[in-house]
Amino acid sequence: MPESFSQLQLHSPLSRAVAEMGYESMTPIQAQAIPVVLQGRDVMGAAQTGTGKTAAFSLPLLQRLMVHENASTSPARHPVRALVLLPTRELADQVAQQIKLYAKYTQLRSAVVFGGMDMKPQTAELKAGVEVLIATPGRLLDHIEAKTAVLNQVEYVVLDEADRMLDIGFLPDLQRILSYLPKKRTTLLFSATFSPEIKRLAASYLQDPVTIEVARSNATASTVEQHFYSVQVDDKRTALKQLIRQREISQAFVFVNSKLGCARLARSLDRDGLKTAALHGDKSQDERLKALDAFKRGEVDLLVCTDVAARGLDIKDVPAVFNFDVPFNAEDYVHRIGRTGRAGASGLAISFVASGDNRLVDDIEKLIRNKIEVEPLDIESDRGVRRERMNDGSRLYRDEEGRPPRSEKGEAPERVRSSRPMPKPVDPFFERPYEEPHPDPSQQPAWENPNRVPSRVSANIKTKRKVAALFKSTD
Ligand code: AMP
Repeated sequence: MPESFSQLQLHSPLSRAVAEMGYESMTPIQAQAIPVVLQGRDVMGAAQTGTGKTAAFSLPLLQRLMVHENASTSPARHPVRALVLLPTRELADQVAQQIKLYAKYTQLRSAVVFGGMDMKPQTAELKAGVEVLIATPGRLLDHIEAKTAVLNQVEYVVLDEADRMLDIGFLPDLQRILSYLPKKRTTLLFSATFSPEIKRLAASYLQDPVTIEVARSNATASTVEQHFYSVQVDDKRTALKQLIRQREISQAFVFVNSKLGCARLARSLDRDGLKTAALHGDKSQDERLKALDAFKRGEVDLLVCTDVAARGLDIKDVPAVFNFDVPFNAEDYVHRIGRTGRAGASGLAISFVASGDNRLVDDIEKLIRNKIEVEPLDIESDRGVRRERMNDGSRLYRDEEGRPPRSEKGEAPERVRSSRPMPKPVDPFFERPYEEPHPDPSQQPAWENPNRVPSRVSANIKTKRKVAALFKSTD
C-alpha cells in the first residue's frame, strides 16, 4: 500500500496542489481508496468525516479525468464527467471548496449546486460547462428538470455521507438521479456506517465494489472522555452553563434534537451572555455559513446545532461536545462526539440524560459496545446545591463496587420520584411562539445579527430571500 502521495504518480498539477495543501503522508482511507479508484473499481467506503475521505475520492477521480482536460471555451467540450452527491448544503460547499483546491492547477472545471440559492448563477455556470459537479439531490433534480444539468456523460459518481442521505429521505431522489446516469460508470459510496439500507443501496448501484473500512464504524475515539449526567429537562440549561464554567471549556458544540429547540437554546444562552450561534435547517444559508465561520474563527464559543446541519462539517479540535438532548439515533452519538478528541487531542463529550431517555442510552451502549454509567450531577442554584438523578432509578450511577450512591444518611436513592413542582419558565421567551428577529439590530442576538458576526462567507453563498429560507427544509 502506498504511503506517500509521490508514490501515486499523480499528474503534476495535482501533485503540486497536494504539496501546497501541506499534506505529508496519506491518511489510511487515502492509502486504501486512491489506488482502487485509480484502477476504476467501485468502492464502498466506511469512513467518518475528518479522515481525509474527500481527497481519497477526489484526487484519483481528478487524475482519471485529466485525459479530458482541455482549454476550449466551448461548453460541449466540458460535459459533466463526475458527480458528487452530498446530503447538506454546508457539506456540498465544503467538498466543492476542497475539490477546487485540488484542481486549481488543472483546466478541469468544477461547480456546486444546492438549494436555498438562486438558480440563475448556478445555471450560468452549468451552461458554461463543468467536469465535476458537486450537488445536493433536490437541487440537482431541479437542474435536471430545467435541462441545465445533463448527466449522460458521467463516468464517476460519488455518494458521500450516504447513510445521512437515506436518513433525510433522499432515497427516491437518489434513485431518480442515478437513473439518468450511464450504466457504465464508476460508483463510490461513502458512509459512516454500513446499515442494512446502505448495503441494499450498494447492492443495487455498485458493481463488485471493494469494501474499505478505516476504523470500526461505530467506534468512539478512545481520546474522548465521555460522561452521561442525569439532568431533568428544566435543569439542562443550568447544567450546561455550570459544566462550561467548572470545566473551563473554551468552545463547544451543543447538540439538540429539534430545530426549534436549537433556536430557543441558542437565544437563551446568548441572552445569558454566552457567545452563541445556531446551526439548523431553518436558518438561511447565509446565516448558517456565517455562524460556522464565526465559530471556526473563535468569535463564537458555543455552536448549538442539530445533527443534519452539523454532520460532516470540517471543524477540528473542538474541546467539548454536549449532547443537550440524547440523540434519537444512536449513530448520531458517534458522529456528534467525533467532533472532539480528533487527531489524538483529548476531548470531552457530555450527555444530559433526562427521564425517558433510557432506551436511547441503551441503544448507544449497544452501538459503542461500552457500558454507560449515568452519573448524578449536583446542580448549583440560588437555593444551594441539588443532586440530579434519574426519576426512574434504572440507570443510576453505581460506585466502583456496583452499588447505587447513598445519601448522607446512608439511604439508597428513591427509585421513582420527582417531587419538584414544575418550575415556571424564567424567560418569557419560552412562552412565545417562534418569532422573527427584532428589527433593531442592537437587540438581536449575535447569531441573528450579521453586523455582530463579521462576514467571511464562501463565494458560493449569495443571500436570497431570508424569511422565505426560514421555511425551507435542509435541501
Ligand atoms: P475530510 O475527511 O475529507 O473532510 O478531510 C478532513 C481534513 O483533513 C480536511 O481539512 C483536509 O484538508 C485534511 N486532509 C485531507 N487529507 C490529508 C492528509 N493526507 N494530510 C493532512 N491533512 C489532510
